[in-house]
Amino acid sequence: MDKINMVWSFLKKILVISIIMTTTVYAKNTIHKSNVVDKQARPYFLKFQKHYKKVIKNMTVIVGTIRNKAGEELRNVAGVCFYRARYVIINKRTFRRTKNMQEAIIFHELGHCELKRKHSDNKIDAPQFIKNDKCPESLMNSGHTEFDRNLDRCYNRHKDYYIDELFLRLEK
Ligand SMILES: [Zn+2]
Repeated sequence: MDKINMVWSFLKKILVISIIMTTTVYAKNTIHKSNVVDKQARPYFLKFQKHYKKVIKNMTVIVGTIRNKAGEELRNVAGVCFYRARYVIINKRTFRRTKNMQEAIIFHELGHCELKRKHSDNKIDAPQFIKNDKCPESLMNSGHTEFDRNLDRCYNRHKDYYIDELFLRLEK
């Protein structure tokens, strides 16, 4: 009898653990229903969430036209984050560039809106291999607000570095 109970309690433990694991994996591969994310931005949103290891909530990511207060289109601005509103607009022109560019700009704007990161323009902090390549030290470099050919090249070459830098140097 004791043996059966032990086996049963062991099985129950395994069941609970697998349910928790499945829900965690599911949560990380799903966009929470409180978000509004443009179809084109969804794969990048999920990739960001995977690196972040947290479920993002109440965020809006739109791919469209960026305008100033006077209603004029800001053609050269690649993306923008309205921090308080948790509202990101990615310029639809960004989506005519490369996949690297699409990803880098979405990560930059979510860096502001979700990670609360400010612009980082401190070249001194960059590791030598980044300096040698004449690349910025962070995806949060302010130069990326506008379309930036250098960003495409640098992100393509040093993606792992930039993703580490983005998530490991969160401002507490
Ligand atoms: Zn920015």
